[in-house]
Amino acid sequence: MFAGNDASLGAIAESLFGIARGMDDLVYLNGSASGIGGGLIIGGSPLRGTSGYAGELGHTLVNNMGSRCHCGRTGCLETEVSLSRLLAVLKLPRADQDELEIALGVSRDPKVMREVQRQIDMLSEAISNFVNMFDPEIVILGGFLASLLSVGRERLADAVRLRSMSSMGHSVVIEKASLRSRIIMVGAAELAFSGLLDDPAGFARGATGRAGQSRA
Ligand SMILES: [Zn+2]
Repeated sequence: MFAGNDASLGAIAESLFGIARGMDDLVYLNGSASGIGGGLIIGGSPLRGTSGYAGELGHTLVNNMGSRCHCGRTGCLETEVSLSRLLAVLKLPRADQDELEIALGVSRDPKVMREVQRQIDMLSEAISNFVNMFDPEIVILGGFLASLLSVGRERLADAVRLRSMSSMGHSVVIEKASLRSRIIMVGAAELAFSGLLDDPAGFARGATGRAGQSRA
């Protein structure tokens, strides 16, 4: 079974209909007000783990001098790279993805710029680890992480290149999620389930390959 979090649905949806269509190896990171979720498709199959919770990428250590995380550890990705910290420096009570992107893009406040750079550096630390671990073709960023990418694409790409093992760091693409509707993501996951029900043995190949073929 899939852990039905937004990021694992997002990973499946992007591999079926989105920017990663036809790709077998991807890392998906979704940033929301409640934290950072991860979704992994490895070798064409969603990575689920024994209990279905593989991909808790938000709890990757990025700063051992960082803030305490609700998981009990210190300096997790989702405590260091967070929407609430961005809203705090922007002095905004809330913002959707577009509003955030505009606010970050137009701000010339040094405090905002420093916080954006700090978060991009922490995010690059985590992404470099994922690149080294999984050698993905693409890393997809959704939610407020997509807004961070918009304002700091070059800094993020340079840092990932620098910190990843050379060939992987140079070839990996970092892009914004192309599907933003949760309805599409749920639909994609249902499609993946239908493949499992129709052909349990053949499902080992994964949802992406088969759905991609049937639509080609
Ligand atoms: Zn944590």
